[in-house]
Amino acid sequence: MAKTALVTGGNRGIGQQVARILAGEGWDVLVAARDRQKGDAAAARLRKDTGGRLRGVELDVTSDTSVAGAAQKLRDGAIHLDALVNNAGIYGAARGADGVARTIETNFFGPLRVTLAMLPLLRDGATITNVTSGLGSSTNLDDEHRRMLLDPALSRDALVEHVREFVRAGGTGWGADAYGVSKAALNALTRILAAELAPRAIRVNATDPGWVRTDMGGRGAPRSVEQGAASVLHGVTATETGWVFRDGVRIAP
Ligand code: NAP
Repeated sequence: MAKTALVTGGNRGIGQQVARILAGEGWDVLVAARDRQKGDAAAARLRKDTGGRLRGVELDVTSDTSVAGAAQKLRDGAIHLDALVNNAGIYGAARGADGVARTIETNFFGPLRVTLAMLPLLRDGATITNVTSGLGSSTNLDDEHRRMLLDPALSRDALVEHVREFVRAGGTGWGADAYGVSKAALNALTRILAAELAPRAIRVNATDPGWVRTDMGGRGAPRSVEQGAASVLHGVTATETGWVFRDGVRIAP
């Protein structure tokens, strides 16, 4: 039986390339996009390119209603997931408190929200891949927050509370900007979820695509979308759990 993957932000950039590769390898792929038409169009494009099985799913990672609706649709279709790729993300949101809130909501709470909603649909032994960034390295944070995020005793609830506090403070006080904090916190969340989901043999890893030529990365980026997606795809088949990888090699969170 074919395996099934769901890729958030699958309508363009790295997510679209991840969807393309998986479909080419014979996976059933759900191309999740916040704009339904863009998701359907991407799925149609990739079906044509690969001859594979893909379809669009409407899913805005910042909306509880949208995420619950997507999960319900999968349940209605008796679909189980072998891989979840939390790829959707934003960079360079408008300055100020709104931009901070939007960045954290998309890049940190998005993967958490989608993961929790999809947990009942994930098969035991599935993988979850959180797409992170080198800008989320804990070395970019001040000592206090670096220690906090790297503390093996940090709980999911405590992490969520610390991140909420960062948003309430308007994105100040951690020594890094909202994007860096969102991905540093995502790396810590990855470790925490890996431990929580170990009893179900669900492996949870973060993968860094590097600086990639997409709408986000810009034309001057050194890496192709193929290289970025290949780095992300390590998470889909990883045998390890709880780590951060770039190009299949473990890197410090
Ligand atoms: P991109 O070309 O800007 O594409 C971003 C994707 O995320 C789009 O499909 C976008 O959908 C989607 N998205 C944004 N907000 C969303 C939301 N609320 N709900 C659902 N989907 C949403 O970016 P990319 O370069 O492919 O980046 C993909 C991932 O790699 C991100 O997590 C990013 O942080 C990470 N990353 C990228 C680079 C780089 O150099 N490019 C480096 C390190 C990490 P719309 O089309 O609807 O906007």
